[in-house]
Amino acid sequence: MMDTMRRLASLTLVFVAAMSADARASVLVVSNRTEKPVALRLASLTSAAGQLTPTVDAGDSLPLPLDGIGRLGFMSAGNPKTYRVQSGGVYYLHEVDENQLELGRIGLSTPVVRKGEKSSNTVGQPPDAVVVPVKVLYDDAEVATHARWEARIRERFEHASAILRKHCFVEFHVVAVDRWKSDEPRATSLGAALKEFEQVVDPAPGHLAIGFTGRQATQFDRAFSGARGPLHSHLLLRESHEKTDHEQLEQLVHALAHYLGAAHSPENHSVMRTKLNDHQARSAGHRIVFDPLNTMAMCLVSEELRGDPRLHFGDVSAAARDELQRIYVELARLDRRDKTAAAYLRRLGQN
Ligand SMILES: [Zn+2]
Repeated sequence: MMDTMRRLASLTLVFVAAMSADARASVLVVSNRTEKPVALRLASLTSAAGQLTPTVDAGDSLPLPLDGIGRLGFMSAGNPKTYRVQSGGVYYLHEVDENQLELGRIGLSTPVVRKGEKSSNTVGQPPDAVVVPVKVLYDDAEVATHARWEARIRERFEHASAILRKHCFVEFHVVAVDRWKSDEPRATSLGAALKEFEQVVDPAPGHLAIGFTGRQATQFDRAFSGARGPLHSHLLLRESHEKTDHEQLEQLVHALAHYLGAAHSPENHSVMRTKLNDHQARSAGHRIVFDPLNTMAMCLVSEELRGDPRLHFGDVSAAARDELQRIYVELARLDRRDKTAAAYLRRLGQN
């Protein structure tokens, strides 16, 4: 893990100099690229009021509410260190020497400078969660009884919501449970099954319908989810009995994060890594963590959803679009083989 972190740190350091003083998001993101949890203190630059003292777990990223400029402090080799930070900024803690921590800023490729924006330079409290109502469905290939299935899925959504609330202030609430008949033969793709699911299932009273198919992966299609991109009304997941509960939770968090605008990450411990089938989630004590760029992407989409719960991805505000584009350009640059970020860039440009 450390090797990857060092490599990423060196990649992103190059861009620190290219940063602009512009960002508009009302959070900053701090990623912990060390192997220990780090206690942080975020304070206002101008007043004693408003402080946050969160701890960011090893390998994880956290959003911290801030409007404008603030001071971020932590202990480094027994001494306090303070850095000036800015809302919209994406930062990472890394170890430069034994217990010596430094804060770096992740640069994005196309800085945008906006004039005339006023900020209060205050630290906020984490906002109430934005709630996305979800209808969940199982198909005729599911072997569990309705009651057992519902209990299992509700518990999984509660865990997933707790993780997403921490990373971007969003919860997914199950508001309806139903079943649908999936007629696709086993050998066809999850993509074809999603098309069918979209035709026969109305997400109401949810904003989003999530189908869990009991049809198992085949040699033709090993995908675990079928989706069309962020804020799309339908999502299909494979319910695999070979996977542990924690692996299925990780899959659900990954899929819901895509819904919230997260693309794939080259950071191989992130829940947004390209290949989830690597058994990481089977190791004892495994924690579901996010990389910093996707944490910021989800925070941007969550703020937009707060304004319009029925928002389409192509209709996000111009400011959010600018920042999301910068994130996706960077993610696409970091992993040129993965096409998710490029696909999201195209979706953003469609309206
Ligand atoms: Zn994915």
